[in-house]
Amino acid sequence: MINTQNIEIEKTKHSKLSQTDFTNLEFGAVYSDHMFVMDYKDKQWGGLRIVPFQNISMSPATSVLHYGQTIFEGLKAYRADNGDILLFRPLDHHKRLNKSAKRLCMPELDESAYLEGITELIKLDRAWIPNQPGCSLYLRPFMYASDEFIGVKPSSTYKFIVFTSPVAGYYKGTVKVIIETEYVRAAEGGTGFTKSGGNYAASLLPAKLAAEKGYQQIMWTDSKEHKYFEESGTMNLMFIIGDTLVTPPLSTSILAGITRDSILTLAKDWGVKVEERRVSVDEVVKAYENGTLKDAFGTGTAATITQISTINYKGTDLVLPGEETRELSNKLNKALNDIKLGKAEDKFGWIY
Ligand code: PMP
Repeated sequence: MINTQNIEIEKTKHSKLSQTDFTNLEFGAVYSDHMFVMDYKDKQWGGLRIVPFQNISMSPATSVLHYGQTIFEGLKAYRADNGDILLFRPLDHHKRLNKSAKRLCMPELDESAYLEGITELIKLDRAWIPNQPGCSLYLRPFMYASDEFIGVKPSSTYKFIVFTSPVAGYYKGTVKVIIETEYVRAAEGGTGFTKSGGNYAASLLPAKLAAEKGYQQIMWTDSKEHKYFEESGTMNLMFIIGDTLVTPPLSTSILAGITRDSILTLAKDWGVKVEERRVSVDEVVKAYENGTLKDAFGTGTAATITQISTINYKGTDLVLPGEETRELSNKLNKALNDIKLGKAEDKFGWIY
């Protein structure tokens, strides 16, 4: 355990708050005034501090720039109608960060340092939390290898930083997606279950090619046969086939989404039939053809639920039913957002 009592705080002398247009927010384009920082060296974390948001200076030989030893998280803070500041499942994000750290051979983070750092940062920058509908404060904790050394080995020093960004929703409305049958996001035994930089770098080219064809996201399929669904962009995938909510099971190639878990928990609580099992492309195409594919959507922190309007498979568009017919995903989306905003009972203890 490290002593988190005395996080040093250096306040900015030049707040950007008054120059920020909260009525025109995009995702991830403006950053709040401060950031939380700590350093790992001599096998321990220390130097906890909050400083003005600023550039990082580093040697060109810094390890992360070459071998990608870097991990991150993404979570949100919301402003409730009564003014309370609510964080959604921050400890689950901490656990997932530590799982990523283990796989990338990086040091784990002490829970109290993580939580206190975030709490103090948000207290200081609370005026940055938007209260416009659909908006929130996105928190980006991340860690990177900071050794100045270009031999391939785990770094012995790391930096952990949390900065925040007032954001609107990630997607505006529904998305068109394309089933990927050539490229792979992650293979079993790899790092797909972590939030590490390389996973996202590997997804950029296929996503660009999909965008050129008019699709905002890719539906990834398994690395061996391109037969089973994995996930989509920065979302986990769910289908409603007949009266059952079906989603691919977690594996080493799929990120264990916290929204995924929340949606499955709510659905099960409501008595909805839920199946976590492999879902093949064939099964979904057949369900579409026989009219039992009622819905397909992605789940993630950035968007909660994003409904899929069109799925392209090998050049053919499968056009899904209109949003207004998708009762269950509409209801789940509202229920989860109400919990996040403190408007509904926090039955599962998700709010901090
Ligand atoms: N899959 C990937 C690859 C992601 O980057 C994300 C976003 N973190 C998700 C799924 C959804 O995870 P969560 O619900 O925890 O945001």
